[in-house]
Amino acid sequence: MNITEIIKDKIEANQAILTEFESKELLQKLGIPVPIQKLTTSKIETISAAKEIGYPVVLKLMAEDVVHKSDTGAVQLNLKTKEDVEKAYDKLMEIPSQMEKKISVQKMADEPITELIIGMTTDPQFGPALMFGIGGILVELLEDVSFRIAPITEYDAKDMIHEIKGFPILDGYRGKPKADINAIVETLLKISDLVVKYEEINEMDLNPVFIYEKGLICVDARIILKKE
Ligand code: ADP
Ligand code: MG
Repeated sequence: MNITEIIKDKIEANQAILTEFESKELLQKLGIPVPIQKLTTSKIETISAAKEIGYPVVLKLMAEDVVHKSDTGAVQLNLKTKEDVEKAYDKLMEIPSQMEKKISVQKMADEPITELIIGMTTDPQFGPALMFGIGGILVELLEDVSFRIAPITEYDAKDMIHEIKGFPILDGYRGKPKADINAIVETLLKISDLVVKYEEINEMDLNPVFIYEKGLICVDARIILKKE
């Protein structure tokens, strides 16, 4: 399926919210890296998916009524063996949910320089607005984020990154390596293009994106479409 088909399918099914799995599938089609992921529905399938992907892996519960996954124990990180996967699977099955449960088995991404948040919301007056910030307390407590109305230029994207107070964290703070600013610029531009092309998209939340010296990877995402 291409991006147009993924969006069309959801609209026809009258579903506004793409699951993490679907959201990351769409991002991958857009050229934004995501960890290898497989959807499973049984323990045996989960174990073989983990083996195929290669350890360490992460298991996440995909159920429509579980939104903030880590709050309910629905994210099981850094599983290194078949036994780890079996235990994690059992824990996920204990989480209360009224909906169908699927498991996303995904590759555990390497430790980043820092976590980023990249988002998009729809302003009733100006349309799609892009958001950028550094994950954790900088966004949650200090609201250290930058906004631009889409479409943005490369210059705008660079500005968005440089104007947050936490920028030194990306620029080699305390001997840490410098983050790949170009990879962030490219990601912001891809999202800008996407939301301009697909007016059906109401909201996007890439949270977090792991940033490295070279490249980045989006480990959690949520895309919400407009209701008719
Ligand atoms: P939530 O629904 O609570 O936001 P996430 O999918 O964002 O759940 O997972 C919670 C945290 O676990 C993330 O912020 C990230 O630090 C870590 N994490 C999630 N997926 C991966 C992954 N594939 N590799 C490494 N770390 C991950
Ligand atoms: Mg998240």
